[in-house]
Amino acid sequence: MTERTGLVWHELLMWHDTHALAGFLTSGRGVIEPDEPAEGAAGKRRIKNLLDVAGLTEQLTVIKPRPATDDELGRVHAADYIAALKAMSAGPGGDAALGDEVGATPFGPGGFDIAALAAGGILEAVDAIVDGRVANAYALVRPPGHHAEAANGFGFCIFNHAALAARHAQRAHGLRRIAIVDWDVHHGNGAEHIFWTDPSVLTISIHQDGLYPPASGAAEAVGAGAGEGYNLNIPLPPGSGSGAYLAAMERVIVPALDAFAPDMIVIACGLDAGAYDPMAHMMLDGATFAAMTRAVKAVADRHCGGRLLMTHEGGYHRPSVPFLGAAVIEALSGLRSAVADPFQPIIAGMPGQALQPHQDDAIHRVERVRARLSEISR
Ligand SMILES: [Zn+2]
Repeated sequence: MTERTGLVWHELLMWHDTHALAGFLTSGRGVIEPDEPAEGAAGKRRIKNLLDVAGLTEQLTVIKPRPATDDELGRVHAADYIAALKAMSAGPGGDAALGDEVGATPFGPGGFDIAALAAGGILEAVDAIVDGRVANAYALVRPPGHHAEAANGFGFCIFNHAALAARHAQRAHGLRRIAIVDWDVHHGNGAEHIFWTDPSVLTISIHQDGLYPPASGAAEAVGAGAGEGYNLNIPLPPGSGSGAYLAAMERVIVPALDAFAPDMIVIACGLDAGAYDPMAHMMLDGATFAAMTRAVKAVADRHCGGRLLMTHEGGYHRPSVPFLGAAVIEALSGLRSAVADPFQPIIAGMPGQALQPHQDDAIHRVERVRARLSEISR
């Protein structure tokens, strides 16, 4: 079996148009001057460009996306929602959040086709991994996916890529247990809700406490019914750095994954816990993203032949995001480029990178929730 890493990439995905936003706010209502949208093509192109310049792309297996079918999208998303997107896409575009101000997800004409192509790229990556054409894969696609709900888009996300990957692995390939690890700095609300009562998909989100969506992602939200205990939230205080994330990985995420023994793992890989990100307040460096990738990869090696898919989510500081992305892809592939990350020593030297007492308390709270759940199930 090959050890190559796949890279999902297609220029058309960079043409997804979110111009109606100033940052994450809808402009044109009097006081919000139109500006660049936070979620744009430039950040993702810059990752791809660095991979090219570093000589990494040529050592990866580029996976060409194809549009996801309505049936494939319908495994996760409501038929009414898919129909509404198509109607807007045939006209001037619209808002996939269907009017929810907090969730604003604008797209331009033809936006459905671009979103369906991004989703299809995820499915192609699952096929390539399960068939053994690649060992694992990184899907550098947009729009992102992890906020998307079954019946509406949310927070720049139209289709929920990690959820679609999980269902595709189950329905098309007969895999049973899928784990989703979401380390985007914002809460992975979409997968939490989609799999709330489903014990076949373990959903784990580590995020900045209370950042976005509002009032979402508490440690006590553990799923319900048959799915109780199969949703895990790790809300960390703002200012958390390498020590807090690696402690959460070692004490909560890796043990939960090992207990679940997945048949495949999907990482919703936001890079917006990076120290310079304008949309959040964490302090991660490339080395920590790489260490987290290696930790989950080791779990995949233990339980499921290394089957690991990473889907690109947030990450908004255009100068530093390419280096964070390259660090993750080097860790995933085992490749090593000669490119040195100029941000690495600066971020690593920031005071407070070690685990702080209040961060330790936050992780203890999650450990207590897990301990209580194992008491119930005993
Ligand atoms: Zn995010």
